[in-house]
Amino acid sequence: MSQQSQFSDIIPDVDKFLEDHGLKDDVGRIMHENNVHLVNDDGEEEKYSNEANYTESIFPPDQPTNLGTEEYPGPFNFSVLISPNEQKSPWEYSEKLNKIFIGINVKFPVAFSVQNRPQNLPLYIRATPVFCQTQHFQDLVHRCVGHRHPQDQSNKGVAPHIFQHIIRCSNDSALYFGDKNTGARLNIVLPLAHPQVGEDVVKEFFQFVCKNSCPLGMNRRPIDVVFTLEDNKGEVFGRRLVGVRVCSCPKRDKDKEEKDMESAVPPRRKKRKLGNDERRVVPQGSSDNKIFALNIHIPGKKNYLQALKMCQDMLANEILKKQEQGGDDSADKNCYNEITVLLNGTAAFD
Ligand SMILES: [Zn+2]
Repeated sequence: MSQQSQFSDIIPDVDKFLEDHGLKDDVGRIMHENNVHLVNDDGEEEKYSNEANYTESIFPPDQPTNLGTEEYPGPFNFSVLISPNEQKSPWEYSEKLNKIFIGINVKFPVAFSVQNRPQNLPLYIRATPVFCQTQHFQDLVHRCVGHRHPQDQSNKGVAPHIFQHIIRCSNDSALYFGDKNTGARLNIVLPLAHPQVGEDVVKEFFQFVCKNSCPLGMNRRPIDVVFTLEDNKGEVFGRRLVGVRVCSCPKRDKDKEEKDMESAVPPRRKKRKLGNDERRVVPQGSSDNKIFALNIHIPGKKNYLQALKMCQDMLANEILKKQEQGGDDSADKNCYNEITVLLNGTAAFD
């Protein structure tokens, strides 16, 4: 990737920008001295320039070369730390679940730690959001229609290719890769700085700009962020996962999920003892097994496909829920398969 294309990640018309600033001959100086300052919807100033340090300007490829979900400390004992939030602010980290619960547009620090780092090896952090559930893993995580709209407050002054990304990073040098329209996974790459004197971690600030519940976006599907430690060829030297829930009530949701997890570990023994209470764990919708035929006329192929996808997601959630609770998922599976055939059939005519 050329310097110019990195720079144009944030400034759509690079030439005009250079001319306006009288710096046409000195792109390098601009890269170092003219960060673009933006104001987010909290009124805070943010920087999203793609300033590149010439000594470490060769970024890894724009797609993860090895997107796994296995934790891998690697040769430098890579670790990612999110401190439990001690103040009363809108995010909570659950160590039990290794998951952050956070409000939309809230910045939070992530500390990266690398040991025995070679001096001459530029290292990068890539943050790639993925859906946790296997059946959605191949789907790209992107922002919902509303939040990625150019008129949305959060997109004011931000380069259009960043609109789709659910994660933003406050690091000036972060580059935003991927595009859902071409099927390229959305991810952010930033150079891993060296720790300040007296510290052994490097802190970077991130924020989520879409909620898990956003329809036509994450659509209530849980996500993880995969943090990979890479060199400039994209070789992976470490991988860490953090669960994420972007929601309106982080504390409530954290407490609930922790409770659910605790009760899910030794479920059978406990519930058997409860005798009559066992009935309470029968899935609520289990008696709602009547089949309805649906024949509606949707204008627009895009809407039609979107509606099918939403149905497919809804059924996938149902199947998962029933499998966890031991309910009968056969009707859901039949419908899920029916929709998949419709979706693939449509795609085949493209
Ligand atoms: Zn959204």
